[in-house]
Amino acid sequence: MIRITNLKKNYGEVAALAGINLTVNEGELFAYLGPNGAGKTTTIRILTGLTRLSGGSARLGGHDIETETLAAKRQYGLVPQHINLDSELTVHENLLIHGRLYHMRRQAIGPRIDELLGYIELEEKRHTLVKKLSGGMKRRVMIARALLHAPSILFLDEPTVGLDAAIRRRLWGLIKKIQQDGVTIFLTTHYIEEAEFLAKRVAFIDKGRIVGLDTPQHFMAAVGRWAMDRFEGDGMQTAYFETQEAAKAYAAEHHSGFSIRRVNLEDAFLKMTGKKVQ
Ligand code: ATP
Repeated sequence: MIRITNLKKNYGEVAALAGINLTVNEGELFAYLGPNGAGKTTTIRILTGLTRLSGGSARLGGHDIETETLAAKRQYGLVPQHINLDSELTVHENLLIHGRLYHMRRQAIGPRIDELLGYIELEEKRHTLVKKLSGGMKRRVMIARALLHAPSILFLDEPTVGLDAAIRRRLWGLIKKIQQDGVTIFLTTHYIEEAEFLAKRVAFIDKGRIVGLDTPQHFMAAVGRWAMDRFEGDGMQTAYFETQEAAKAYAAEHHSGFSIRRVNLEDAFLKMTGKKVQ
């Protein structure tokens, strides 16, 4: 559904993307994970036609984003990183304007808005001004807006940034539901648990390159099942073990503070790049 080949983007001297190769299958929920400045947003901006690429190619649903831009653009809905709803308009008005911009037929827009307000569980906020909504509700409206024209691909750029843990989890439920309904989802995030919980496959991106691409389970299994964090001086050392018993036995030999936990995706990224995602 998404095919990226040797994708490059330069901003002057900065190589924001240095040759990305990636295929996302139909109906897949794919996470694109990396630290600030890794190139996540740049990738989405190119795939959605907001920025021109400097080299390589990208196809959405078989359509080249450079040469068949309109057909490629019809394939996707985009939820950008920053909230860009019109805060002085109601939820319904925001959705209506978007439908008109997409040249949806008048008779089709109304029922589709009704359907989506039910889907995001915000029917009762239909006539509320967007400025009166909470951050989590605004995100849900942004998702509904992106789905209005029934795209086959949904781009979610850091969809839960700035939200508290409970609201974030509620949005995860909505994202899963959208995928189960057959939409291909390309998600960028630097929340490790988000990728771990939602994604079937994860690409780690660092300095404009993919440094790892696999399932969360394989990434974590390659590190070990258990981690022991040990505080030494100013820093923290982490050791990895196959069993909790082995971790405990190792910890018992040391007298400094330690904690034992399950391995997560952050450990895999740390092992690969020597740095943390968050
Ligand atoms: P974040 O998690 O902070 O959003 P990101 O992974 O999305 O980071 P990008 O925003 O894609 O990273 O940025 C990748 C690199 O390209 C960074 O070095 C950034 O400074 C640079 N960059 C991005 N946009 C521009 C621009 N318009 N002009 C110049 N440099 C840019």
